[in-house]
Amino acid sequence: MDDTVGRSTEQTVDTGSRSLRVAIIGAGMSGILAAIRLRETGVRDITIFEKADRLGGTWRDNTYPGLTCDVPSHLYRYTFEPNADWSRRFSPGPEIRRYFEGVAERHAVDGLIRTNSEIVRSTFGDSRWELETIGGDVETFDAVICCTGVLHHPKYPDIEGLDSFAGDSFHTARWNHDVSLKGKRVGIIGTGSTAMQVTSAIVGEVGHLSLFQRTAQWVVPLPNPEIPEPLKQRYRENPEEMDGLYDHLSERFVDTFARAVIGDREEMAKVEANCVNNLMENVSDPELRAKLTPDYKVACKRLIMTDQFYPAIQQPNAELVTDGIERVEAGGVRTVDGRLHELDVLVLATGYHAHDFMRPMNVTGRDGLTIDEAWAEANEAYRSVAVPGFPNFFMVAGPNSPIGNFSLIQVAEVQLDYIMQLMRQLQAREGAEVEPKAEATQRFNDEIKAAMTGTVWVTGCSSWYLDKNGNPALYPWDFQHFRQDMAAPNLDDFLIA
Ligand code: NAP
Repeated sequence: MDDTVGRSTEQTVDTGSRSLRVAIIGAGMSGILAAIRLRETGVRDITIFEKADRLGGTWRDNTYPGLTCDVPSHLYRYTFEPNADWSRRFSPGPEIRRYFEGVAERHAVDGLIRTNSEIVRSTFGDSRWELETIGGDVETFDAVICCTGVLHHPKYPDIEGLDSFAGDSFHTARWNHDVSLKGKRVGIIGTGSTAMQVTSAIVGEVGHLSLFQRTAQWVVPLPNPEIPEPLKQRYRENPEEMDGLYDHLSERFVDTFARAVIGDREEMAKVEANCVNNLMENVSDPELRAKLTPDYKVACKRLIMTDQFYPAIQQPNAELVTDGIERVEAGGVRTVDGRLHELDVLVLATGYHAHDFMRPMNVTGRDGLTIDEAWAEANEAYRSVAVPGFPNFFMVAGPNSPIGNFSLIQVAEVQLDYIMQLMRQLQAREGAEVEPKAEATQRFNDEIKAAMTGTVWVTGCSSWYLDKNGNPALYPWDFQHFRQDMAAPNLDDFLIA
């Protein structure tokens, strides 16, 4: 392999001189976007492999009651696809799923998707990637873009007796809509964003609701009003207004909350005051308030954003259970105080295996190096998008992406623009290979670790943000830094053959 130190993008690019065959893994938000960006880059031979029977990613998998995005609707969209029809300030899940389906159709991406085609193996050799589907089909590609998402492997709790429960039980990401909750005794394990949304949505319908809380959560009050029809009409007539709104929402978020979590004390003080006041003003019973008061810093765990949860948990048929779970029995959940909480339905809002990235797929790069070997110590990538030893293999929302504090769509757009610039290197000539240098990757990860010490995520709490070594899998700088850093690849950091 020839090391092209100091080459600029302009010097090496001969866009379109070689037609690439590119595989995208995953037909969610980032997979759809990857296909659109590839086309714009001149790539015509694109296949999107999707493990499920339809596109949509997390918005397909999650159908639980109350599902809402807590990024504002007019920010949670592709920059090039404004949507005047969002019904609320924060969109309900089904609306977002339909939005992605609509974009895929309008951009003729849906025809590129091969459904029920989970990739089980990706192997590199002779400058190409060989991909094998679960059905045994094998095909080769010049490059792979892994768009497998972050939160898609449901985490089932390791609680004794879970299988012995006699009622209906399911994870929130596998909601069983055949089960009626009307008048039933329903238990929910977990108090993350998902559990809070489910609690608020179902408390009015169920007979009794038991919310099993292991850790209290800080909650930011976030009202979610409808967007009135005249305003939607105005957006339809003046789409540029939506672009202004997008920029405004983005700036507001980037300048406030996103700064708070990475060490801006003034901004953090405002977020803290907001959470504390919310709890003091909206939970009247001192005993319940004490149970709902976290013992760690605001935003150390991912903040809950809703004005629905406190009213919901104070309903007469709702109970916050803070005694630890001892085991699950046929009749319900037994807590450590010996009490059996009798249940008809048990909902597991216990989150995801967030650090598995593209696994369980077997990925083998140059010289037989597997991704499990490369990441044995930690999931480390070069600027989240590529890994040494895995040429022409790119990731969206890979390790240390800014996933905790921005719209993931914004993140995907920036990462894909960057990946497309590397893709142009591959278009330059037959058999081209591009991969980050090991030392550049090490340097980037050292910088990440050093910067992480100033963030709220390392102030002492357990959260899904933390990897097995206790390091947050997030991005410790602000969005401007991210944009600037990702504006163009520094080709000195890559091996390009
Ligand atoms: P999560 O934040 O990981 O929460 C899982 C919950 O389950 C936690 O309360 C955890 O308790 C509890 N838990 C896990 N194992 C348990 C056990 N064995 N016994 C008792 N409790 C147990 O998962 P999530 O709520 O599904 O949310 C995951 C992420 O999805 C969010 O942080 C967010 O990024 C995203 N999300 C976003 C939205 C949105 O509006 N945009 C909505 C839903 C989800 P501990 O806290 O004690 O670990």
